[in-house]
Amino acid sequence: MSILVVGSVAFDSVETPFGRVEDVLGGSATYFSTSASFFTDVNLVAVVGEDFPREHVEFLRTRNIDLTGLTRVPGQTFHWKGRYGYDLNEAQTLETHLNVFADFKPVVPDAYADADYLILANIDPELQLEVLNQVQSPRLVACDTMNFWISSKPDALWKVLERADFIIINEGEARQLSGEANLVKAARKILARGAKNLIVKRGEYGVLMFTGTTVFAAPAYPLEEVFDPTGAGDTFAGGFMGYLANTGNLSEEGIRQAIIFGSVMASFTVEDFSLNRLKSLTYGEIEARYRSMKAMTHFQGLPEGV
Ligand code: AMP
Repeated sequence: MSILVVGSVAFDSVETPFGRVEDVLGGSATYFSTSASFFTDVNLVAVVGEDFPREHVEFLRTRNIDLTGLTRVPGQTFHWKGRYGYDLNEAQTLETHLNVFADFKPVVPDAYADADYLILANIDPELQLEVLNQVQSPRLVACDTMNFWISSKPDALWKVLERADFIIINEGEARQLSGEANLVKAARKILARGAKNLIVKRGEYGVLMFTGTTVFAAPAYPLEEVFDPTGAGDTFAGGFMGYLANTGNLSEEGIRQAIIFGSVMASFTVEDFSLNRLKSLTYGEIEARYRSMKAMTHFQGLPEGV
């Protein structure tokens, strides 16, 4: 099954303790689509400006991402500038230039309107809502957001979140959204508004999934070198949704496997700037890391009667 994704396609300028890059390929939809494309077909809805180079479009094409919904309009491509300190878990946004996103009205091409899997990646929640309203009856809707939108457009954002099967956000966002410092309380409050499941990304500490009745905890793959965490969250979401769309298995077991695939994909992204590591990644490497995640987290149950 294919996935429909709407989100940002961007130029990023990023500074980490290990180096800096200017105007490299980034954006929530870019990371998501590239990651998901290792598992399934992806249809992308986004906008770029006249300055967006052909080579980036060609790269997305080589990943077999359908670009019918990628519009090029006069103006400049969305630009995000961020910085990470030695605590790589939290990005500090230095600049956000919406540029062509400021007037963007997403149109879901007719061929995508019956999408079964929909991801509303990080983008203006009003645009997320417009896309949600153009898709007939998706089997699974997931959405992401960030502090920028939680503080600037909370009403539109809640309308989106209430209709999601999976909200995928980081722990700072879960706290900000709920007004609760404790993540378990935060999850209860957020799910009480109507979403079915909440996945909280905790950087190097892994992820927690709250379903309302169960909690699943997955570690992050332990890496010796984390170079640039940009896009880790979107890459996680891409692996997660990509695997679900590939198997169609929405049981708790299948969802837990998808969380591990998401974590594996994110662990590759952070090894280099921009999408550089994903560009050289092979499916064999993904499977090998999935297996070591399994070995790493396995432990015996208690013997009978204890
Ligand atoms: P993350 O997976 O959370 O690290 O997402 C990083 C990506 O989000 C970067 O490549 C940015 O281009 C993109 N981004 C940053 N701010 C925004 C925003 N306000 N709206 C949409 N995308 C954004």
